[in-house]
Amino acid sequence: MGDCLFCRIVDGTIPAKIVYEDEYCLAFTDINPQARVHVLVIPRRHVVSLAAVGEHDAVLLGHLLVACAKVAREQGVEESGYRVVANTGQEAGQSVFHLHFHVLGGRHLAWPPG
Ligand code: 5GP
Ligand code: ZN
Repeated sequence: MGDCLFCRIVDGTIPAKIVYEDEYCLAFTDINPQARVHVLVIPRRHVVSLAAVGEHDAVLLGHLLVACAKVAREQGVEESGYRVVANTGQEAGQSVFHLHFHVLGGRHLAWPPG
């Protein structure tokens, strides 16, 4: 997508600190980290949000969650715990409209979220 920030990170136009990548996804550190570990896991393919997915995306979504688990393991928060979040739409605070899972860990995370 021409004007999508995360598509620009996928194609390398905008730099990012990539911590994991494979054929279907990319994981990079958040530019404004909210925890010691704050990584964004995104599909290489442009998908707007969870609100835009269908049955045909089930394999990709499973792959992304497995990637989140790998990232958490590699970032050293598997034992201590971590949270995977997909802000979806305006009221949830989604600000970049290319699907991404936040992987947050390395500190106590309050519940419920704000
Ligand atoms: P959202 O608010 O849509 O759930 O999450 C978007 C996230 O993208 C935010 O946590 C924000 O800090 C992060 N972000 C925005 N622009 C950039 C960027 O250019 N590079 C990186 N690495 N993260 C970004
Ligand atoms: Zn995109």
